[in-house]
Amino acid sequence: MARITANRLLKRYGNFQAVHGIDFDIADGEFVAILGPSGCGKSSTMRMIAGLESITEGQILFDGTPVNDVRARDRNVAMSFENYALYAPITVYENIAFPLRSAGKDQAEIDRAVRAVAEKMELTPLLGLKPGRLSSGQAQRVGLARALVRKPAVFLLDEPISHLDTRQRYRMRRFIKSIHQEFGHTMIYVTHDQEEALALADRVMVMSDGAIQQLATPPEVYSRPANAFVAGFVGEPPINFFDFSDADETGLTIEGNRVSLTDPLRARVRELGPVGLAAIRPHFMRLGAGSPVQLQGRGFITEELQDHNEIFVDIGSVRVSLIAPPGVKVARNETVTISVDPDHLLLFPADVKVKEHSDDL
Ligand code: ADP
Repeated sequence: MARITANRLLKRYGNFQAVHGIDFDIADGEFVAILGPSGCGKSSTMRMIAGLESITEGQILFDGTPVNDVRARDRNVAMSFENYALYAPITVYENIAFPLRSAGKDQAEIDRAVRAVAEKMELTPLLGLKPGRLSSGQAQRVGLARALVRKPAVFLLDEPISHLDTRQRYRMRRFIKSIHQEFGHTMIYVTHDQEEALALADRVMVMSDGAIQQLATPPEVYSRPANAFVAGFVGEPPINFFDFSDADETGLTIEGNRVSLTDPLRARVRELGPVGLAAIRPHFMRLGAGSPVQLQGRGFITEELQDHNEIFVDIGSVRVSLIAPPGVKVARNETVTISVDPDHLLLFPADVKVKEHSDDL
């Protein structure tokens, strides 16, 4: 097991800088998910940790010792990719045993290790089968067992389950979390799926454009996002964004609605000035009056999802979604009042790019 530290870690491909000198410190035994959109530098970061990609500038340390010049196979790192590539002609047992045979372990030790990991991974009944007979979820588990059998210091997973169907993904997600609880490896998990990151990780490292936007626990990235990018990327359905204006001690204006502010929001307005971006999650808005932060809107549509409804309302020029109990609906163009929970109203500096991104959703 190992603690992983990055100091000013930078990656350039030719003239293109993919990772801009990032710092992080991952504790021994911690599970960190690297989350972000395609192309933000997640895999480059992971591949530098693994030793599969050279480090342009900066350092990676395992337990305080720089590993920049240590070859991948000497770092004691296991990696599992989406593409798990089992060897088709040999059994599940031999697939799992393969790394130990390559390392020259004796048969008794190999047998003990393979059977122990197979038991933990619920693969014992499958040990005699060839990979062609396995479902994709079973094959993925064999791939993970093969990686784990070497007892790596660090376990790296790069989008390991993104190709599975929804049900298999849910199963594998629970499996991966139980592996971490059982074996206690330092685990780093690359994903573009925010739900997967929140469900699995002790801490989530949110990246965009080659930089870390926030490295914090799931409740922190959800409830106290460091910036509008994190607010927009984390949470489903996505957070609603509004421009706000005329902010001062008395309140602020959102799409023609003047709303009053709680003390913490007033303090935030003093930092931000009169204009900026307001954000509120669909779960913290409800139909009806009763909050100091109320917005007037017109009904658009209701999606009845049975255990809850998702309601879409136009507030001025912004179409927002909110989560309501079953049975609560809006009629098209009906005038509605929306109450916002002021404890969950987030205010950020104006950011045109983030707002455009949310408009695409
Ligand atoms: P992610 O895993 O977040 O999708 P990557 O780390 O794979 O992002 O890539 C980050 C950026 O670096 C992307 O713009 C990608 O096109 C670029 N990139 C990745 N690998 C290479 C490479 N071998 N050569 C040139 N550019 C690359």
